[in-house]
Amino acid sequence: MQRAFADAQPEPYWLQTLPAREAHAALERALDADLCIVGGGFTGLWAALYAKELEPRREVVVLEASRCGSGASVRNGGFLNYSLTHGIANGMARFPAELAALERLGTGNYDALLADLERYRISAELETTGELDVAVATHQLAGLREAQRLFEEFGQRAELLDADALQAQIHSPLYLGGLWLRSGAALVNPAKLADGLRRAALQAGVQIYEHSRVRRLRKLGSGVEALTDSGAVRANKLLLATSAYEPLVPAVGRYVAPVYDYVLVTEPLGQDRMRQIGWSQRQGVGDSGNRFHYYRLTADNRILWGGFDAVYRYGGPVGPEYDEHQTTFRRLAANFFTNFPQLEGVRFSHRWGGAIDTCSRFSVFFGRALGGRVVYALGYTGLGVGASRFGARTGLDLLDRRSTEVTALGFVRRRPVPFPPEPLRRAVIGLTSNRLAAADRSGRRGLWLRTLDRLGLGFDS
Ligand SMILES: Cc1cc2nc3c(=O)[nH]c(=O)nc-3n(C[C@H](O)[C@H](O)[C@H](O)COP(=O)(O)OP(=O)(O)OC[C@H]3O[C@@H](n4cnc5c(N)ncnc54)[C@H](O)[C@@H]3O)c2cc1C
Repeated sequence: MQRAFADAQPEPYWLQTLPAREAHAALERALDADLCIVGGGFTGLWAALYAKELEPRREVVVLEASRCGSGASVRNGGFLNYSLTHGIANGMARFPAELAALERLGTGNYDALLADLERYRISAELETTGELDVAVATHQLAGLREAQRLFEEFGQRAELLDADALQAQIHSPLYLGGLWLRSGAALVNPAKLADGLRRAALQAGVQIYEHSRVRRLRKLGSGVEALTDSGAVRANKLLLATSAYEPLVPAVGRYVAPVYDYVLVTEPLGQDRMRQIGWSQRQGVGDSGNRFHYYRLTADNRILWGGFDAVYRYGGPVGPEYDEHQTTFRRLAANFFTNFPQLEGVRFSHRWGGAIDTCSRFSVFFGRALGGRVVYALGYTGLGVGASRFGARTGLDLLDRRSTEVTALGFVRRRPVPFPPEPLRRAVIGLTSNRLAAADRSGRRGLWLRTLDRLGLGFDS
């Protein structure tokens, strides 16, 4: 199994689809700005663009520790989903009173994101194929039927496929049935999306500094100062879009547990290989377990295959030294060939990992710090390609104190249940992962998971 990925390049496949570019200069002086944004991923870049849309003359500065689009935003699977709540079932479980509004707002955000791609001329290899949820154990079929009922109730188009109908589309001996979400779901090349947003932000007049890690924030008069190793930005307001990375305000560390998710990408599949799997509709696919795989075709017909293990390390460290995890790559490769045995002999060309900003409600949350001068927007828990546009805009509305339908929602005003501090955090997450795996085997949520459900606590990726 090791052989299949031994020669894989240890970096996100998506990066090789971008032309080389010079890094933006690092910040090496003190600078004044109206708005400072920390983090140049989807959230930070969407926020920068929105700030300029609202007030073109506003001075907006983005400070990025590495390169824009080097975090989760280029490490993900590129599944663009309308949901703001990490799926409709999680939305129903956690936000039932607001689900109708959240579904409508999620659909609006998805449509507006597609329109923005046109408007800013971002070619992100968009494929509006929908998304397929497949059952690989009998007990998962009921969940698909329930999800279809919910999708229909809230106006999405979703088609149930029995085993034969599913096998006719994609050939795998594991498939027992599927649910094809035909609206509000697409695939993108996330690196092209992030880079397109960076270029659009530059064109709008946003100043971007790369290799400029913010070490500290402090109040300065009625504003805030962001200090890097070689410079500082003094701004009226600051948006934190730092996802799973080391928190710059303590509250974020209470709510977010960085969880590593790993991905393999195959070499391009030739026509014969493609015929062996079918997949003519090219949907993004996920299996229905608690520990699930997600997979898709790329524009050049590789298969991106990720997920299953969600690796939490004591203290939640994030950094390049965690981008590799041989045990997980071995498991991913083995599961890949069990899912598609006809692809035996195919090699993986890329492997990588990325940190997910897991919070206990599995969806973006917001908060204020430093007397309201700072707002944070993070916690997407592995479903942020679409939701980050909503998170960015909502975060900026909160920072600017604009009252909207969205800012009035409990979804926006309330924060998740915090995770306990270490060493309990590691123990609770470890036990929960173990019980989730057991639930996948048995089809039943045991006492521990049911207790967490009642407390509104969860763990996912
Ligand atoms: C392996 C993986 C697969 C995923 N698959 C999907 C998927 O298919 N679909 C989906 O919807 N979501 C997916 N996600 C989640 C999605 O990628 C994220 O929710 C989304 O990219 C979050 O964007 P962001 O801008 O908030 O965070 P990031 O892209 O992580 O950006 C945060 C940025 O902040 C910078 N930063 C951090 N600290 C500092 C500091 N102190 N100073 C300056 N800069 C700083 C970082 O360098 C980074 O560039 C996946 C995530 C991973 C890791």
